[in-house]
Amino acid sequence: MCGVFGIMGHPEASRIAYLGLYALQHRGQESGGIASVDAGAMFVERGMGQVADLFTEACLDRLPGRSAIGHIRYSTSGSSRLQNAQPIRIESRRGAIALGHNGNLVNAQALRKALEDNGAIFSSTSDTEVVLHLFARSTEEIVEDALVDALGRVQGAHAITALTPTQLLAARDPYGFRPLSIGHLEGAWVLASETCAFDLIGAEFVRDLEPGEVIVLSQDARAEGEAIDIVAAGAGGAAAGYVSHLPWAKQARKSCIFEQVYFARPDSRLYGDSVMQARKRMGSTLGAEAPVEADVVVPVPDGGVYAAQGYSEATGIPFELALIRNHYVGRTFIEPRQSIRHFGVKVKLNPVESLIKGRRVVLVDDSIVRGTTSAKIVEMVRAAGAAEVHVRISSPPYVSSCHYGIDTPRREDLIAANLSLEEVRERIGADTLAYLSLDGLRQTVTSGEAEYCTACFTGDYPTPLSDELSTQMELFTPAGAGPAGREIG
Ligand code: SF4
Repeated sequence: MCGVFGIMGHPEASRIAYLGLYALQHRGQESGGIASVDAGAMFVERGMGQVADLFTEACLDRLPGRSAIGHIRYSTSGSSRLQNAQPIRIESRRGAIALGHNGNLVNAQALRKALEDNGAIFSSTSDTEVVLHLFARSTEEIVEDALVDALGRVQGAHAITALTPTQLLAARDPYGFRPLSIGHLEGAWVLASETCAFDLIGAEFVRDLEPGEVIVLSQDARAEGEAIDIVAAGAGGAAAGYVSHLPWAKQARKSCIFEQVYFARPDSRLYGDSVMQARKRMGSTLGAEAPVEADVVVPVPDGGVYAAQGYSEATGIPFELALIRNHYVGRTFIEPRQSIRHFGVKVKLNPVESLIKGRRVVLVDDSIVRGTTSAKIVEMVRAAGAAEVHVRISSPPYVSSCHYGIDTPRREDLIAANLSLEEVRERIGADTLAYLSLDGLRQTVTSGEAEYCTACFTGDYPTPLSDELSTQMELFTPAGAGPAGREIG
């Protein structure tokens, strides 16, 4: 749960990065940072909190130059503190490099232990710093080769932007777990975790990075201000101002399906598909799979809104926004001494009684993780006078923790991993409960060529998990691109 951004060749690079991070804020709210390069010097500003509070005019003035990367973070690996904020900048024998990373590395702990056993000192607990240690130790001379070498030694999910005094690099892991797209803006290249960032800054989407693709943008690759040839850019050739490599062995694509279900912004295009449309299809498939006699379809905002629309269209039951979300809720609340019933949920959601009272309600949400919030919402809707409450979930039961960068509880805290469907229904207090089937979900998202990771619904992880991986060998033997390495530009 992080967002990355990058821009090269724009006179207001750090201000554009700031706006890009603003659009990606839903991907992480704990910390953020921007690194920029001006005349060979690198500048970094990082802090705890949200983008709007972190970056002032004065702060952005301290980030000069035509190239920048940005990062916003929600900790899934490493605790929430300033040292773990990104981009992380280091000095190596190849010069300065700053790196921002979205995704979790499943062998980071093992690699870290091996590095520490060999004398490495870490300043953060983030798995991203492991990549930088591997980069610094690489025997490869050229920056992009050293980064490819480092990333070739890690396992798991990474979508990365990295900045050096002369280059902007981007990489997506061979499974393509996390999204990363490239666009252009007024003669500059931009990279972002989600296309909603391009919309805000007025950039044109060019394409998604391929799983396993590494892109290198160099300042001297084309004359300043020279128009970008978009046709060539699509092909990824050096003529377009960047070079694209596929340095690692090809893997079956395993893009995170949960980004499509819940995590990505609905106005983004993800894996070649509209997130909003995909969510509507999930809802209409759910309506076909699990219809019910009812009077009104009510989404649990924001995640359930488009699935509820799809459910309503498929079943003909009217749609009403009968739960109102307060968008201005902070992380902590000071409760009155005399506790208010359902306070924790009520401060975020409030039912519109006139739309609910005496009616049979279908409550549509994107997922049930622990089940505690669902139980409170069902109780709140009943308290508002609902005659019946039928819960419909637009994804399959969430039964396994994510190891690739989405923050989820341990398996023992996942309600569907521990209780039967009927027990979950009873626990959340619904009259009926139904989930979208895995086949149904797959059908709704298989546009284009995308293949998906569905491990949180199946327990079928695409990679070995941490304790199954070797450690020492990976550090001190050449990783190399090997015979499977492919150049496409
Ligand atoms: S386990 Fe689930 S949340 Fe994690 S990458 Fe796979 S589909 Fe996404």
